[in-house]
Amino acid sequence: MTSPSHLSNEAFDRQHLWHPYTSMSHPLPSYEVSSAKGATITLKSGEQLIDGMSSWWAVIHGYRNPRLDKVAHQQIDTVSHVMFGGLTHEPAIKLGRQLVDMLPAPLEKVFIADSGSVSVEVAIKMTLQYWLAQSRPEKSKLLTIKGGYHGDTFKAMSVCDPENGMHSFFNKAIATQIFADAPELTPDDEWDETSGQQLTLWFEQFHKELAAVILEPIVQGAGGMRFYHPNYLKLIRALCDKYDVLLIADEIATGFGRTGKLFACEHAEVTPDIICLGKALTGGYMTLAATVTTAKVAETIGQGPAGGALMHGPTFMGNPLACAVASESLAIISDGNWQQQVSIIEKYLKDKLLPLNELSSVRDARVFGAIGVLEMEQRIDVAEAQRLFIKHGVWIRPFGRLLYIMPPYIISEQELSTLCSAMADYAKSV
Ligand SMILES: *Cc1c(COP(=O)(O)O)cnc(C)c1O
Repeated sequence: MTSPSHLSNEAFDRQHLWHPYTSMSHPLPSYEVSSAKGATITLKSGEQLIDGMSSWWAVIHGYRNPRLDKVAHQQIDTVSHVMFGGLTHEPAIKLGRQLVDMLPAPLEKVFIADSGSVSVEVAIKMTLQYWLAQSRPEKSKLLTIKGGYHGDTFKAMSVCDPENGMHSFFNKAIATQIFADAPELTPDDEWDETSGQQLTLWFEQFHKELAAVILEPIVQGAGGMRFYHPNYLKLIRALCDKYDVLLIADEIATGFGRTGKLFACEHAEVTPDIICLGKALTGGYMTLAATVTTAKVAETIGQGPAGGALMHGPTFMGNPLACAVASESLAIISDGNWQQQVSIIEKYLKDKLLPLNELSSVRDARVFGAIGVLEMEQRIDVAEAQRLFIKHGVWIRPFGRLLYIMPPYIISEQELSTLCSAMADYAKSV
């Protein structure tokens, strides 16, 4: 079929391109972007929008960051891609060194994957192969907490929240996993020993079939934007140790400073056996993720079937262009400014958003690190809300009853102020 040239860009996009979680028959509007710089996205129609989303947690250093731009250009002039099977290169080696340096011991064996969901698949495969290598194939189930999100591939979907995830659509095609209730206590609540009881029971009952626990530490992102008490994570780590179960921390959204710590696990002083990283890894320039594990896990897999090989190897594994940009993004993180940037954003969001708890349209306003959430009483009409936000000169993409922002770390107070007043105006208008 020849591309219908009579269609405008807008019409072609609507008729021929899928967008995330969007119907081809009744698509939500999509706005064409012409460029972006710093914390501002410019639409083709001329509007300038302050970005509240960091393009889904990713663009932490801002669009067209001069350091990232420069490295990307340099790497294109060197080599953009080369297969990772049997070949290796400086950008991957450098990135690997930085990750090992940044992560707590004993996390040190790095699998460079091509997207967050894939890094979750790789983490799950690692746990399955770890138990296979010890001739314990019955340890093949995953335990997770409700309210989570781990990606859109099938194993990742199986551990997403069973109600607001995609279980109902794919039903039998999705593996059955074990779900503990979502933690009730927030980081601000007083810890109550009884709130971990169900977790303890689940471990006692299921540990013989459990390969691993997978969870998002402290902040549950796309599954509901909830923040939970670090003691849950401490308890789960202790139970994993007691019952011989591996712990996978999915830090794809929380990694690299977003929650006020470099990694969210630090809030509970817990080290997982496997960590998944993505989203902000390249500063949001292109897709790249990493699954990092311990020498113990890697060496155990190495004693197992398939000649000890980890059975995964995507075509674009270790893509040099993405690795080079990720490496520079981590260098920016290592300069340390993120700490002050995130704490300024957190304080500002607390000042402006928490008072909105007073509004009858708001069920709960909450802030953790550089993440601000208004959980509304009513479902948000996304198309209508976005028209209002564009009029205000901001880019915010709500889902369900959640209006939330996690802006780029480099955002100015003035820009933050515009974002917060747009959120307040929306909450007052409904
Ligand atoms: C976004 C996300 C994923 C999936 O990453 P993709 O790059 O979209 O595949 C997995 N886990 C968490 C916690 C995420 O936020």
